[in-house]
Amino acid sequence: MKACRRALPTVPLDANVVSMLAGAIALVVFIIDALTPLDIAIAVFYVVVVLLVASTGNRSSTVAAAWGCVVLTLLGFVMSHDEAYSSGAAARCAVSLLAIATTSMLALRNQAATTTLREQLELLNLAHDAIVVHDMNDRITFWNHGAQALYGWTAQQALGQSLQDMTQTVFPVPYDEVRAELLRTNRWHGELTRVRQDGSAVVISSRAALWRDEKGNPRAVLATNNDITGRKQAEQALERSEAFLRDAQRLSSTGSIAVRFPDGEMWWSDEAYRIFDYPRDTVPSIDAVLARTHPDDLALVRGVFGQAAGGETLVDIEHRLSMPDGSVKYVHYVARLATRQSGHREYVGALMDITGTRRAQEALARSNDELAHATRITMLGELAASIAHEVTQPIAAIVTSGGAALRWLNRPTPEISETAQSIAQMIRDAKRADEVIQRIRAMARKRDRLPAPVDLNGMVGESIELVRRELERHRIDLRVELAEPSLTAYCDRVQLQQVLINLIMNAVQAMAEVAGPRTLLIAARRLDGEEAQVIVQDSGTGISDEHAGRLFNTFFTTRDDGMGMGLSICRSIVEAHGGRIWAESPPTGGAVLKFVLPVDEGRSHEQ
Ligand code: ADP
Repeated sequence: MKACRRALPTVPLDANVVSMLAGAIALVVFIIDALTPLDIAIAVFYVVVVLLVASTGNRSSTVAAAWGCVVLTLLGFVMSHDEAYSSGAAARCAVSLLAIATTSMLALRNQAATTTLREQLELLNLAHDAIVVHDMNDRITFWNHGAQALYGWTAQQALGQSLQDMTQTVFPVPYDEVRAELLRTNRWHGELTRVRQDGSAVVISSRAALWRDEKGNPRAVLATNNDITGRKQAEQALERSEAFLRDAQRLSSTGSIAVRFPDGEMWWSDEAYRIFDYPRDTVPSIDAVLARTHPDDLALVRGVFGQAAGGETLVDIEHRLSMPDGSVKYVHYVARLATRQSGHREYVGALMDITGTRRAQEALARSNDELAHATRITMLGELAASIAHEVTQPIAAIVTSGGAALRWLNRPTPEISETAQSIAQMIRDAKRADEVIQRIRAMARKRDRLPAPVDLNGMVGESIELVRRELERHRIDLRVELAEPSLTAYCDRVQLQQVLINLIMNAVQAMAEVAGPRTLLIAARRLDGEEAQVIVQDSGTGISDEHAGRLFNTFFTTRDDGMGMGLSICRSIVEAHGGRIWAESPPTGGAVLKFVLPVDEGRSHEQ
């Protein structure tokens, strides 16, 4: 440590002043030596000259001064003793020369050692780390450029100061503990908070080592300091964002899953564990996922893992989980191929627990069905006259045929074949009445959606039959254009009838308000390719621009006795069948309501 202190930048003596002083001393010594008859080795004082020049640190000047002093010594010897050289004088000259040589050598060696030390200190200054040495009283004895850059104080300002006081050091544990550990292990490592010269706080990672002298006494502490303020902040930001992610995953019931192929190694987030209901120490694996997969969805899930193993870029699957408590969860897993490296492919994705959404959808579908049922009943009430007519007509025909049959039997010679014909007619009429009643019962029955292939022309015909009386009552001129050949849609027949009857009844009501001719077109046709279209066009009031956008909104009605449910239910039924419904206002007046459904071409249907 002494060496360090000597080498610290101190105010250097001016080299010129020293040289002049050395020259003056050399001159004085030479004059006394050469010109005075003193019998002493005055030339020994040349060592002062050598030492003075050596103190400038300049090696070549030191060598030159040494040789100069040797020359002056010899010159003085020659000048002061003409031709009689006493052995005493020669001995004094030799002693002087020896003293100059020895002093010069020592001075040069010292210079070399000082230079080496200075170079080593320069190397310490090159270090990026702040390097600080303080003695056992906390006084700073070394302060490199890194320390200046980190804390702001120059070496000149810092040397001699108390390190802890100057930087207002806050240790993570009481300082006594730090000191005790240093003395016990010669080492200490920890994080400190300090204040820079400009007053800003800085978080420091400090590594300290204790230096002991030869006797083992602690003498100084060397510490390397690094600014970790940014890293701490980064760690805090990372922790915070991890906490946010955890909360977001929890709140949205969305876990993260990464899976690597071909080895199938997996990684799950906390939320993924929660969704699968596995303890946190379970090793994530495809087998663990399959173990939770609903038996009916196993083939589906295996297939998706197979696709991923085959390199598919996007994986998107909805399936069920069978939980240990017997409950069923619905999950939606979406993953994309994130990395493709050295034979490995890694998928990163989100696993969403959509059980709540599914249940809500099911409840919504149920309440839609209930609503549809309620409006069907209301509609049947409105159609009571039509229905009564539909039923009474075949019953009246049965009565007529029965009377005819009786008459044929009551003949003196009963007309068996005529009677049989009348009875056959009766049976046909009875069947028709039965069909009508079945249809009405189907409309009135409360039941779940029953999709099946439905012949659209037939469905249109049946619906018209149910409202025929209304059409007649309002003197509506009906035109029907059916698809040729007929089209089949995979749908619920009764619900579709409900849609069409609703549209027809709306048309009837719109036309009841106009004086002109009342014409109604009901058409079923194939739209391009895969879709069937049903059209109900009337010559009624038409739809104003103001109302056009709200027609299908629930509770939107312009009628005093309207509920505003009809079109909204029509839309949910059509959309539930994968179709669309909309209204148009043709330039000829009136309104056109159209809906399309996917055509069923005998494909297989999974429900
Ligand atoms: P509601 O018949 O009870 O009013 P809807 O949902 O069936 O309920 O119809 C909503 C509104 O749409 C009707 O009140 C009417 O203003 C308008 N609308 C429906 N069909 C037609 C049509 N064919 N012509 C003109 N307006 C219509």
